[in-house]
Amino acid sequence: MANTKLIAGNWKMNGLSTDGLSRAKHIADFATKNKSDLNGKADILLAPPATLISALHDVTKPSPVFLGGQDCHPETSGAFTGDLSAEMLKDAGCSYIITGHSERRAIHGETDELVSAKTAATHRAGMTAVVCVGETAVQRQAGEAEKTVKTQITQSLPDTILAGNTVIAYEPVWAIGTGLTATIEDIEAMHGFIRNLLEKSFPVIATTHLLYGGSVKGANAAQILSCANVDGVLVGGASLNGQEFCDIIAAAL
Ligand code: PEP
Repeated sequence: MANTKLIAGNWKMNGLSTDGLSRAKHIADFATKNKSDLNGKADILLAPPATLISALHDVTKPSPVFLGGQDCHPETSGAFTGDLSAEMLKDAGCSYIITGHSERRAIHGETDELVSAKTAATHRAGMTAVVCVGETAVQRQAGEAEKTVKTQITQSLPDTILAGNTVIAYEPVWAIGTGLTATIEDIEAMHGFIRNLLEKSFPVIATTHLLYGGSVKGANAAQILSCANVDGVLVGGASLNGQEFCDIIAAAL
């Protein structure tokens, strides 16, 4: 279990330069002001739309805020219209890339095999992958939550994983953007299951950060962050409000 919590915000397809930059500035100012409290307790990651990465890099560079891409193409460069390579995202200022988010799996039909290739591309570029997994409501009701997550993890992790280059985010699909949060018992049970799986099958990342995602907000962050084997949170909707996101960061301090 990691000591430093990772508080990550995924802005998805939201943000123009006006609101995106002022939100990033709000968060960067908060992080700078609380730098000594954050040290060793919480790292902050923002994954804005790709159009804002360079501009956000200017705003966040002097602060302890890391930037991440929301997706990447497995190749380094080439005829892949509309795509971005991991190297391009690194060049723009990112040090993390989210791979296998459930919206990419569901809407873009991404398979575990493709997620694994994108995760390997992230490693090739010298960055940390935040690999997302999580069951749907139907899978949970069928008693297949653990089986689903085990398959996703086993098949989405390439052999390039090393200590420090891979984070796992458990995000039950039914809790994303719905206002429904998994119970504390369910979160601890699944995070314990994932930790055991890593210890047995992927010992090189056995102690890596395990994030919970799914309707995290200022009001529930402290309780979620205090769960066993929860080393941080991946936040969607609530990360679009600068103050709310700062409240979530503060819950880790
Ligand atoms: C997400 O999309 O990763 C997410 C957790 O979204 P939300 O916080 O809005 O549920």
